[in-house]
Amino acid sequence: MSRPKICVIYTGGTIGMIEDAATGALHPFDFDHLLASVPKIRLLDYDIRYVQFENPIDSSNMSPEQWCEIASTIEDYYDRADGFVVLHGTDTMAYTASALSFMLENLHKPVIITGSQLPIGEVRTDGEENLITALQVAAATTHDGQPMVQEVAILFEDYLWRGNRSTKMSADNFNAFKSNNYPPLARIGLSIHFREEALYRNASNRPLKVRRELDRNVMFITLFPGITEATLRHQLATPGIKGVVLKTYGAGNGPQQKWLADALREATERGVVIVNSSQCVNGGVNAAIYATGNHLAEAGVVSGHDITSEAAITKMMYLFGEGLSPEAVRRYFDCSLCGEVTI
Ligand code: ASP
Repeated sequence: MSRPKICVIYTGGTIGMIEDAATGALHPFDFDHLLASVPKIRLLDYDIRYVQFENPIDSSNMSPEQWCEIASTIEDYYDRADGFVVLHGTDTMAYTASALSFMLENLHKPVIITGSQLPIGEVRTDGEENLITALQVAAATTHDGQPMVQEVAILFEDYLWRGNRSTKMSADNFNAFKSNNYPPLARIGLSIHFREEALYRNASNRPLKVRRELDRNVMFITLFPGITEATLRHQLATPGIKGVVLKTYGAGNGPQQKWLADALREATERGVVIVNSSQCVNGGVNAAIYATGNHLAEAGVVSGHDITSEAAITKMMYLFGEGLSPEAVRRYFDCSLCGEVTI
């Protein structure tokens, strides 16, 4: 059997950071430093190709340009690699994972995103174990030799999660990520226990197609008790805005004031797509349960079901980037494109 061929893409993040001697603040450093700190990698008999961002970044600086850079690298190496490991900061990892899941159409190979809470040079670092395990997940195959994982996933500490279902839950715990509405794809113990029935399988045999057009004319609006009509109308009047992810309460509920329904309806009639996404991280939108939810649906707000905020906003960027009409975007929020939502 040939050695697994894995392409590692280093974008930055805590995993590769070092401390600035003057300020004590962490900043991204180059990949050679990171590799020198994990000599164990050589014990894996893998053929590893490393690609580094020209300027590694703190993932708070991540934007659609970098998502395109990651996606293009995956496209370039797609036929030469069995799998990919993307090293990334944790802060926006769930956004990147969600965006890539939409951008990498017909993906049939593993794209495993990982990082760490402590830099890899630190004694108690979680980065070394995360990197090694991510490589093993990217190299794993089924009994008939197919890639075990054929989707974008986040590997962090004890679990492998579906990327477009994941959220960063903790700025402190080593188990920093969770997919609150979908089971883990694997549990990392003495061995890697894959949950094959939970893994995504794309039915199409078409070749990988990278979708690079992402439309940034989207935004979050968060409801809170006391929100004023002026605030809401001002946000909905943002120049050029095409899509809004409305962060509602509980099962998709919001205040029943008439001005709120009027403002949402007027925006919808202007062609703005408003998607209902709950502020609760677990469970989903069911606007039919309460009158407070029903009233948003009547104002034209479409259900985001149990989608995460990260997946909702990146799905909007992708759908509008494809040039779809508001009507078509609304319809696509009612279906799962790559396992991001339970319909
Ligand atoms: N600020 C860092 C980043 O997202 C945090 C981390 O990597 O854990 O790049």
